[in-house]
Amino acid sequence: MTSTAEKTNLLGLPHGDLEQFFVERGEKPFRARQLLQWIYQREVDNFDDMTDLSKSLRARLNADAVIEMPEMESRHDSSDGTVKWLFSSGFGQAVETVFIPEAGRGTLCISSQVGCALDCQFCATGAQGFNRNLSSAEIIGQVRHAIRELPRRDNGEPAITNVVFMGMGEPLANYRNLVPVLELLVSDWSYGMSRRRVTVSTSGIVPQVEKLGADCNVALAVSLHAPNDELRDWIVPINKLHPIRELLDACWRYASKHSNRFITFEYVMLRGVNDSIEHADQLTKLLKGKPAKVNLIPFNPFPGSEFKCSSTDTIRHFQNRLRQKGMVATTRKTRGDDIDAACGQLAGKVSDRIRKRLGQKNIGQKSKGEQNIGAASV
Ligand code: SAH
Ligand code: SF4
Repeated sequence: MTSTAEKTNLLGLPHGDLEQFFVERGEKPFRARQLLQWIYQREVDNFDDMTDLSKSLRARLNADAVIEMPEMESRHDSSDGTVKWLFSSGFGQAVETVFIPEAGRGTLCISSQVGCALDCQFCATGAQGFNRNLSSAEIIGQVRHAIRELPRRDNGEPAITNVVFMGMGEPLANYRNLVPVLELLVSDWSYGMSRRRVTVSTSGIVPQVEKLGADCNVALAVSLHAPNDELRDWIVPINKLHPIRELLDACWRYASKHSNRFITFEYVMLRGVNDSIEHADQLTKLLKGKPAKVNLIPFNPFPGSEFKCSSTDTIRHFQNRLRQKGMVATTRKTRGDDIDAACGQLAGKVSDRIRKRLGQKNIGQKSKGEQNIGAASV
């Protein structure tokens, strides 16, 4: 449990931890459910307003606990309706959260780490290096903040229908803090979202993919981006630890545990790098006949990036080729690029990096430090 000046921050605590908090204070475990409803369904921050708790319990909560939200630094609104928030993560660091409204749905893209250590070559977050993991409170706080600011839809439904872990950071490298957040998103006592509407996106930390399959039944997206190990070793360096075959085997096990639910394979379109018809055919070979859909992402440039986006024609041909071969393939629409909120452009503010960039040599050698990238925070 996290605490501020001796007080426990109840934000981000999953049901079991909240029960423990109350039982330790001589209270009945069901108080946890009440607290979850007050925090996430009624949006109350002040214990004095929690009217179904006794006065003495409210006094105890005031003495022992807080509900502390991450501090919002700024909000940026795109001309296409996309909203980006910057949240302070202390010491001049900040992470970003993006809301993308579409017909019939609204997707909130949240961050899990300040920066990222995995160093994918085409990613603004990766280029910044890694500072630290976000706490569960800092992750679920992004959702809670967005819910508060966004007006409900015309039909009275909440603005956010889907949550995706596609902001800054590698969620499976922050597994310990990820799982409570997933629980809070889907639990009936808090947000009660459908598991199909919560997507964890990973670049492929295989042991944690296996763990997620056992612990949480949410949707999985995998950042594949290359159809062979030689290319993937370069653009997604974690591939040197967990090559494509190993990653895909873990994916099919994950899918089979969840009644063959489809896994989304993200594929960033990089001009002259991974966008030929040959690459499309190699990709088909890997995924054909499996519960897989491919989502092509036009590369979004950022200052200092060395790649270019494939042309619209190339992307269309690539997608058509996949479809002709019987694959399910879509192309992601770029949103919010006037406020640098598109996929891979999220940079936040990351300094004081523990690790600026991974040494290419290290990663191939599976050094001790390298193993820690996936395991450090798990
Ligand atoms: N670390 C996780 C989730 C965050 S990145 C992961 O890698 O899956 C979310 C998605 O944006 C990933 O598919 C990522 O590869 C992609 N992405 C990163 N940089 C990009 C860029 N510059 N243009 C387009 N997509 C990018
Ligand atoms: Fe990290 Fe994902 Fe960016 Fe790779 S694409 S550097 S895993 S945030």
